[in-house]
Amino acid sequence: MNLTNINTVKDILSRHGFNFSKGLGQNFIINPDICPKIAENGNAQSGYGILEIGTGIGVLTKELALRADKVSAVEIDSRLMPVLAETLADFENIKIYNEDVMKADLQKIISNDFSGLKVAVCANLPYYITSPIIMMLLESRLPVESITVMVQKEAAQRLCAEVGTRESGAITVGVNYYGTVTQLFSVSRGSFMPSPNVDSAVIRIDLNKKLLLNEEQEKFFFKMVKAGFSQRRKTLANSLSSVMGIDKTVVYGVLKSLDIPESVRIEALTMEKLTAVSNALMSS
Ligand code: SAM
Repeated sequence: MNLTNINTVKDILSRHGFNFSKGLGQNFIINPDICPKIAENGNAQSGYGILEIGTGIGVLTKELALRADKVSAVEIDSRLMPVLAETLADFENIKIYNEDVMKADLQKIISNDFSGLKVAVCANLPYYITSPIIMMLLESRLPVESITVMVQKEAAQRLCAEVGTRESGAITVGVNYYGTVTQLFSVSRGSFMPSPNVDSAVIRIDLNKKLLLNEEQEKFFFKMVKAGFSQRRKTLANSLSSVMGIDKTVVYGVLKSLDIPESVRIEALTMEKLTAVSNALMSS
């Protein structure tokens, strides 16, 4: 079954009485070049189990299953279950979980389904929840090699920005702490049904085997990063004192000891400086 043929897709969806849900970010890929490219760049290969988030009608799921040993996919919309039973009927290496990815026990899915395999995440993410999903995947320290996802172009720019520049945000710090991020290719809005108002891009995060901070330091670090970026126009001392209740003089003391001006904003700090400030604040 050709899941990038518009007439085939329309026929399946109408037979199942399916209407797209805007709220669930349902824009399905209909450009035949995209899914093979995501799969090939996303470690879908022999020796791998792939965790997919948001199957839609299974257009990417199928390409992943053609290349990897196993695919386990989490899809929130129960109306898609009978559709997937039809579109993916020929595959024995796909398991679908009808769950909200933010509530699913991904650790358990990985250990039950992918024993003896390397693991990678691939997805065309629902745009309304891109950053929370990426942060959840990173923070839960899943045993995965890479996360390859399609996101809105603007989100890709933020994810791929350099830490310490105006384009960066808390999510930029997150991905750069846990791994190395690369922008792979752009995807035009016309590649989807229905077509969204924005273009997209596919990025890959290759995860670090070793992390810079221990768990306690890491917890404080992300608290500080989130607090700083939640009021990014304020100076670091002002945002940390208003969000975290840290005395401004303590922040000034730490900044001085690290040769950083008192007026600094969080967006100007590099990864190295951010971790140094965080560790010093934690022990002061
Ligand atoms: N992979 C398909 C494709 O590329 O055509 C569909 C991608 S569509 C952008 C996003 C999919 O994620 C939809 O099928 C939607 O129902 C699903 N979704 C939305 N929120 C979700 C959540 N919290 N947990 C799991 N799936 C979700």
